[in-house]
Amino acid sequence: MGYYEQSVPPVRDTRLKIGDSYYGDACGLVDCGREGCLLQKNRGFWQANACQMALTLMMAATVENSAIVVHAPGGCGALLHSLSVQSAKGRARRGKEPKPVPWLSTNLTEADVIGGGEKKLLETIKYADREFRPEIIFVVVTCAPSIIGDDTEEVVRQVRSQVSADVVSLYCPGFRSRVVASAYDAFYHGILRGLELSPKPWVDYRPLPQGSPDAELAEENYRFEKSRTVNVWNATSIGPGDEEEVRRLLTALGLKVRFFAEYSSRDELRMVSEAALNVSMCNVHDDYMLKFLEEKFGTPYVIAGMPIGFRHTRQWLVSIAERFGLEKQANALADYEEKLAKEAIEPFVEQVRGKKVLICGGVVRVGAEATMLAELGLHVLGIRAYHYDDGAEPVFEDVGRNLPDTPVAVSNQLFELTHQIKTLKPDIVIAHNGTQGYIAKLGVPSVQLWSVDSPFFGYTGTYRILRRIVFELKNTSYRERLSRHVRLPYRPEYFEGDAFKYIRD
Ligand code: SF4
Repeated sequence: MGYYEQSVPPVRDTRLKIGDSYYGDACGLVDCGREGCLLQKNRGFWQANACQMALTLMMAATVENSAIVVHAPGGCGALLHSLSVQSAKGRARRGKEPKPVPWLSTNLTEADVIGGGEKKLLETIKYADREFRPEIIFVVVTCAPSIIGDDTEEVVRQVRSQVSADVVSLYCPGFRSRVVASAYDAFYHGILRGLELSPKPWVDYRPLPQGSPDAELAEENYRFEKSRTVNVWNATSIGPGDEEEVRRLLTALGLKVRFFAEYSSRDELRMVSEAALNVSMCNVHDDYMLKFLEEKFGTPYVIAGMPIGFRHTRQWLVSIAERFGLEKQANALADYEEKLAKEAIEPFVEQVRGKKVLICGGVVRVGAEATMLAELGLHVLGIRAYHYDDGAEPVFEDVGRNLPDTPVAVSNQLFELTHQIKTLKPDIVIAHNGTQGYIAKLGVPSVQLWSVDSPFFGYTGTYRILRRIVFELKNTSYRERLSRHVRLPYRPEYFEGDAFKYIRD
């Protein structure tokens, strides 16, 4: 049985060749990944890891007119308090009503863990349907019901005939995967199994009598429209500014652009099949879904890294354009945009030239951003990817060609990041959200690797990143003062050894 037929999605640990513990260089990483030695690597000590459910919730909380039922003990859903605010802000920035996300927890107790939580789940789904009248109810299956063996699939099957909403199961217990990116597959698995992804007659269109001239004309118009339509797949780390930049560039090529699946409604999701091409903005997010759409609807896809920096943006644009015979136009557009952007970034480039930078976060983004910054004259001291899988091979082959001697680590461990900052002494760290507090306590300036408040993609993104780096390099007093008064929990001896001494084969 293929992955898409199974009720429970695969985790990245089984679907792809992955790794989360490595230190060396980019070429070594690519080789190690291919040969399978990455799978053998582990750590003798782990500080902490993330739960995949958090990222699945992040995506689900953005879907329009939905409600979320977290089948778990009370604590698992706590993150939704902040996610609700975040998704309301995302809606407002996209011109939608900034509504909070209705969410409920089955609040499993010790007695439920012994006796089972299926009845509670059934009642909670029915309550969510009655109370909030959502179009979609996401049922989030976490560790506790997965361990005790609740048959949540059967509950969902039964409840579908009793509620008006579409009920979508999201299987994302944290213990199943060491790779938090499994969360994206869990979200898309629920969407592709639980929702209609093609238009319905009499709901989305009016069927015309076969053979009538009107029907032929309508069909022809529709085919033309579809032949120019691209679905671009977003994610929580891709903000409205990134979407605007991508839309601006692809529209300049004459393409019609739609974004999925975040901030989409059930009606919009039914139009997913009606496109000529699916475009990834990062394969870590969406390769699972794009492969499904090709298998199910025959829609081809493009996965070409991230459009960060001039070179990657051009490659990304051209790889989309060549599917429509528009390579020449894409290159002309890139020439024009690069010329404008170079003039705009000139004053900043001088100020960052030679600055030492450490970059850490998602595997595709760190690779693309590292080579971009190196091309702009910064000295990349190190690259840290949260995980590595075979989908990131092209990105790290590119890093290997352009930055062959730059140290590369696969690490999501804060103690290793802290050690590297302390010993490498970068002028600035570009780091994933959530780590800025640690970096600030070390007195080092940092910039977020992504931010939904500011674009990182395309030409506007390059300008904004540089401007942000310059600002941080000039405004260091908060961090300096913080580092004088706040201590991190590590003893000085810890920084004497190698940062990656706990990595084992
Ligand atoms: S790891 Fe399991 S128990 Fe912990 S928050 Fe995630 S789903 Fe809940």
